[in-house]
Amino acid sequence: MIDWRAIDTVLLDMDGTLLDLHFDSHFWLEHLPRRYVELHRLDAASQEDIRARIISEQGTLNWYSLAYWSRELGVDIVALKREVQHLIGLRSDALDFLTWLKQAHPRVVLATNADRESLALKLPLTGLEDFLDAIVSSADVGVPKEAQEFWFALQEVEPFDPARTLFIDDNPAVLESAREFGIRHLLGIKQPDSRRPERDLEEFIALDRFASILPGERPDDQQDQEGRA
Ligand SMILES: [Mg+2]
Repeated sequence: MIDWRAIDTVLLDMDGTLLDLHFDSHFWLEHLPRRYVELHRLDAASQEDIRARIISEQGTLNWYSLAYWSRELGVDIVALKREVQHLIGLRSDALDFLTWLKQAHPRVVLATNADRESLALKLPLTGLEDFLDAIVSSADVGVPKEAQEFWFALQEVEPFDPARTLFIDDNPAVLESAREFGIRHLLGIKQPDSRRPERDLEEFIALDRFASILPGERPDDQQDQEGRA
């Protein structure tokens, strides 16, 4: 599926791609609304309002900014995240994939909408940094990946040839933005959140396991299918 000889750079999203999105889904939609009403002594029904307010910022830089939400909601978002940090973890075979990339040595760059506070929380808990040549956060750039300006700015700080770049991201709107910019090899993720159902993306191939794009490493189920054929 991927001709690795044609790839110089691998751009990787973090949440929902390398890391299980369950932490973020749970934090933003369950834990934060619940703790917000507790801390502000509001009635439980206000949780719904806060959820709607959070979701209304989706896809904007605010949505990804912990400082923004701490200010807006009058709570310490980082401290609240730490309450459920045991849910932060790598997706199924992400570690194997990163290990393979490290020895295959294309340039590996984390291209994330997570802000620096999110990174400061998640990187030490997951060990991702050992596998990355660079980390570019849209918060540093000033625009999210959904916007074309992000890709131009990324290329300024981390030059890459779009025709020889693979980008993997669980967010179809972001993949669309990368495609518009001209990145040639694009892959989505079938199950970003381990507690939610798999989904297919209409416009992009969605990966089940990273192993399926590694040369010479055939997923067990594929071997089984071929064995039976
Ligand atoms: Mg993501």
